[in-house]
Amino acid sequence: MIDVINLRKSFGDMEVLKGINITINKGDIVAVIGPSGSGKSTFLRCLNCMEDPSGGSIVFKGVDIADMSVDINVHRRHMGMVFQHFNLFNNKTVLKNIMLAPVYLRCKDLKKAKRKNSMIRFGNLFRGGSKRELLPITQTSEQIKREVKEQAMALLKRIGLEDKADVYPSTLSGGQKQRIAIVRSLAMDPDVILFDEPTSALDPEMVGEVLELMKQLARDGMTMVVVTHEMGFAREVANRVVFMDEGQIKEEGGPKEFFGNPKEPRLKDFLSKIL
Ligand code: ADP
Ligand code: MG
Repeated sequence: MIDVINLRKSFGDMEVLKGINITINKGDIVAVIGPSGSGKSTFLRCLNCMEDPSGGSIVFKGVDIADMSVDINVHRRHMGMVFQHFNLFNNKTVLKNIMLAPVYLRCKDLKKAKRKNSMIRFGNLFRGGSKRELLPITQTSEQIKREVKEQAMALLKRIGLEDKADVYPSTLSGGQKQRIAIVRSLAMDPDVILFDEPTSALDPEMVGEVLELMKQLARDGMTMVVVTHEMGFAREVANRVVFMDEGQIKEEGGPKEFFGNPKEPRLKDFLSKIL
């Protein structure tokens, strides 16, 4: 699904990613671990081009999205992102938080199609025999909003928070906020979700509910890249574990081999400190 080829990223003189190569397949649960400052967040942010890569390719479903001439917005909507600090809109209700992006993008597509159709109609006035066909438009913006709302309520129900639809995020616990952030990303029906330390900002008693939801997604076949310090999650849920150090992937493997028989001295050292 994603082919990362020699990905490089510098901030000024500092090279933070020094040639990352990895292929992420559909259904993979990739846990990314490594010391603070090793480039894990930068790697995730480059994957969906929140940061412009300085070099290399990110081929997502056949398109190199690192190529500056590609309209990244078309592709980015298929990649969900979940952050350490939730990044919910605090001035919007829970329901609006979930609905915002899908409504915006689908209504934008609708407007675009309508505009194209009026051009096609105009062109057809001057065309002889074979007139160009109009793009199919099946929904009004009102219908889109109603449908997205139904989907959002179904997602809230799935995590048992349907009674929170009309409250503001500030009234929620950290665990609830993060679960909302996760279903918000699901509302876009993404092909892959990128998680950047999704449980690091949570009180310990709330880590479990967020990990449980992530496990459910994994069981449902979602493709996930998860930067995490939760070695339990990496061991039990991930099918691949990646060790990043100093801007490079230093070791990669299935969890059994990775934790049971680490090879790189830096990884051995890292694991000895955290396990
Ligand atoms: P990690 O997530 O593994 O802790 P980061 O990707 O956040 O690592 O950071 C890697 C390095 O890149 C750090 O030295 C950090 O200071 C630097 N860095 C990250 N983002 C920026 C930025 N926007 N501008 C300058 N330096 C940055
Ligand atoms: Mg980070």
